[in-house]
Amino acid sequence: MQRVGIQLKALSKHFQGKTAVEGVSLQVAPGELVSLLGPSGCGKTTTLRMIAGFERPDQGRVFFGEQDVTDLPAEKRRVGMVFQNYALFPNLSVAGNIGFGLRVARWPAERLRKRVGEMLELVGLVGFENRPVQNLSGGQRQRVALARALAPEPRVLLLDEPLSALDAKIRAGLRTELRRLQLELGITTLLVTHDQEEAMSMSDRVVVMNQGRIEQIGSPRELYTRPQTPFVATFIGSMNLFTPEKIPGGFRISGHEVALPVTPNGQIGVRPERIELSPHGPFGGVVELVTYLGAEQQVLVRVGPDLWTVFVPNQVLLQRGDRVRLRVPDDAWILV
Ligand code: ATP
Repeated sequence: MQRVGIQLKALSKHFQGKTAVEGVSLQVAPGELVSLLGPSGCGKTTTLRMIAGFERPDQGRVFFGEQDVTDLPAEKRRVGMVFQNYALFPNLSVAGNIGFGLRVARWPAERLRKRVGEMLELVGLVGFENRPVQNLSGGQRQRVALARALAPEPRVLLLDEPLSALDAKIRAGLRTELRRLQLELGITTLLVTHDQEEAMSMSDRVVVMNQGRIEQIGSPRELYTRPQTPFVATFIGSMNLFTPEKIPGGFRISGHEVALPVTPNGQIGVRPERIELSPHGPFGGVVELVTYLGAEQQVLVRVGPDLWTVFVPNQVLLQRGDRVRLRVPDDAWILV
């Protein structure tokens, strides 16, 4: 399979004077899986549709490898696309759906049959070729949609919320399967999702979008450990965020005076799993809620005016009303 990267140069799109996408620039390396992640309406689908050729940018260019495809119609771009709602042809069989694009492209019958067979194998649907697609489960339908998208050997794969319609168990399984397949094929892939877990678990890099713009681009680890804006800090994982008040000799956080290893000039955050229960911790608080999650427990602690979220190992017994002291290791503070 031909490997090409994708480059977006300052893409903008407005609808009726309203900004949908503003100055989005991005480089996706050949074979990379990059997610566009953000809340509803942040412009991720519009960005994907400009790459697919369904939407023309007001400004900016789209490149596949060295080729400027901005003026190329969608059907000439050689992209494979998968949508949340499957968008299968209901009157065609599984094989009919998978071979659809090949028939349109007038592949010779024997080659077409062989390709459909390969695709059935790829997505684990051998034996299902003659089934009507209405008889399939959601997960199976999405595999058919993926096979159909990949059959004509597209240059890039675009996935628009492909797992959002499926229930949790199936979604988690397909996540892993989709990623393994993508790595095996080495196909450059853009995934649109509003689900941070999905983006984090499947991607080489994640692009966090907010109100039409890119907030931050990074590997899942970079975004989690070094979020650069309060939006990213709170959108990915959970984060306790504070605005420290400068006082002589230190700072005041949640009504407590502490020394900080860093000098914040905006907000400062700490992840719930980095907060420790410690008899001499500087932050005194009262447990308000304990939620048992199996592997750990999420504890809400009232500290001064703030409610802190703390992850505590599940063998520690805590209940509402308990007085606790909390400590934050120096290297756990995150400037945002
Ligand atoms: P969602 O997950 O809800 O689809 P999104 O992040 O994909 O959200 P977009 O669908 O790209 O966001 O929409 C970005 C903004 O552009 C929204 O305010 C949306 O209402 C608007 N928009 C998108 N398409 C159109 C259109 N065809 N006509 C008018 N406004 C549009």
